[in-house]
Amino acid sequence: MARILIVEDNPVSMKLTVRVLEYDGHEVLQAEDAAAGLRLAREQQPDLVLMDIMLPGMDGIAALGELRVDAATAHLKVAALTAYAMKGDRERLLEAGFDGYFAKPIRHKEFLAGVAGLLAEAGRGRGQ
Ligand code: MN
Repeated sequence: MARILIVEDNPVSMKLTVRVLEYDGHEVLQAEDAAAGLRLAREQQPDLVLMDIMLPGMDGIAALGELRVDAATAHLKVAALTAYAMKGDRERLLEAGFDGYFAKPIRHKEFLAGVAGLLAEAGRGRGQ
């Protein structure tokens, strides 16, 4: 089990993502905007942050920048969770510094496999 923070303003997408991760045994923290997400990331030190890109106010790319410049959160694994599905978006987001990328709507098996891979990189694979 890992602690995973989801920053997502779409309630339907949030609910689905929470359900999938909780079903897989993870503890899930939820933030509806970047400001709340940054605060929870600092306070709770999640093993993985799943960051929507289109957020009210500060967007996900700017929020990633804030996480990276703060010594308390610079080390966190952060994956983009986004409806962007245009050719080149994945590369653009990885270039921006995200550790991974998930397109919405998520496909459960592929999503959980990707999450497990990122957690393993973070030293939080199953049984740890
Ligand atoms: Mn959004």
